[in-house]
Amino acid sequence: MPEFIPYGHQWIDDSDIEEVVKVLKSDWLTQGPKILEFEEKLAEYCGSKYSVVFSSGTSALHGAYLSLGLQKGDEFITSPITFVATANAGLYLGTKPVFTDVEKDTGNIDARKIEEKITKKTKLLVPVHYTGHTVDLEKISEIAKKNKLFVVEDACHALGARYSYQPSAISHQPETKKWIKIGSCQHSDMTVLSFHPVKHITTGEGGAVLTNNKDYYEKLLMFRNHGITKDRSRFTIHDSRLIGDWHYEMQYLGYNYRMTDIQAALGISQLKKLDSFVEKRRAIADFYNRAFKGNPYFDIPVEKDYACSSYHLYPIRLKDNYKDNKQEIFSKLREKGFGVQVHYIPVYWQPYYKELGYKKGLCHVAEDFYQREISIPVYPSMKNEEVRYVIEKVNQVFTELAP
Ligand SMILES: *Cc1c(COP(=O)(O)O)cnc(C)c1O
Repeated sequence: MPEFIPYGHQWIDDSDIEEVVKVLKSDWLTQGPKILEFEEKLAEYCGSKYSVVFSSGTSALHGAYLSLGLQKGDEFITSPITFVATANAGLYLGTKPVFTDVEKDTGNIDARKIEEKITKKTKLLVPVHYTGHTVDLEKISEIAKKNKLFVVEDACHALGARYSYQPSAISHQPETKKWIKIGSCQHSDMTVLSFHPVKHITTGEGGAVLTNNKDYYEKLLMFRNHGITKDRSRFTIHDSRLIGDWHYEMQYLGYNYRMTDIQAALGISQLKKLDSFVEKRRAIADFYNRAFKGNPYFDIPVEKDYACSSYHLYPIRLKDNYKDNKQEIFSKLREKGFGVQVHYIPVYWQPYYKELGYKKGLCHVAEDFYQREISIPVYPSMKNEEVRYVIEKVNQVFTELAP
């Protein structure tokens, strides 16, 4: 039996360590050249014009909502099947998360149910590419355009994922399927990433916002650094006796949400390996798909024709006869020596959200999804023998359960 197999794990090699050590021996530990280099490489990889790195995915979400001008009393629509951070970042601003139900198979926000949740106060849609399977971005951006809403993609699971769309160009032109990378922001105002160790690449803690809009870009830079600008063209004080070369202006209430150069160096090194990491995750998912196809116990993840998933997670969904035995199945799987997890408890079930007035029953499909879902291990350094071990033990646990 292999050693304990976690549900997710980073992959750091000697080349990553070397890059970090170089920064430690340099003059710049933070706000140095590695930050800009990482930002440029991220934007280049994803196909966006700009990128701003942050101290975490959560601070990146906060910065994104703030830069779009969300204010106390505004509402934004998101999915309850996400990490609490997606909704929390809105609470920091006094805005209200409005949870919309999910699709039964992908666990992604159900675009057909978005419009019924839109009110005069709605400013923003925050679709989450759950597990790395993209939402149907074109549909969501249409709804946003029609209702004059911003879109921020929570792509913390989806760096390296792709979305395919039919360019709605000239009607008699033959339809051509195009694949675009998540993060190109062709259907959104901003895309948010996380570099937590379980995500696709890591900087320890870290996050980023991608955008094609220069104004948002400049605001994001300021919010990351206390709301301060040193850009002369943005100054509001023009008295030449006051504004020498030392001058800087704090124009907004920002934060210290900066990433260090130590982290950025790790990110640059990790980014080089991203495609191979995603390929490996897809190969493991394929392995699982073939092994579990048609089994009587659980449904395997789907991949819609518009999505090329980066498989941050491999979520199985218990069938009707098994969904009430989740605790038993969960603990038996763990006893076999590998990490299983549940993604996610619907956000509004959390005690803090309950206090705010959210009630059980708000999103039936999401609650049912939660009751069935178990994530089994998938990460790029997972060995074939470990994948085979997980398959064998999953089959064993379910076979032993059956009466
Ligand atoms: C990880 C994650 C976040 C937050 O990222 P941190 O870097 O941990 O702050 C937000 N949303 C989703 C969907 C995530 O998985």
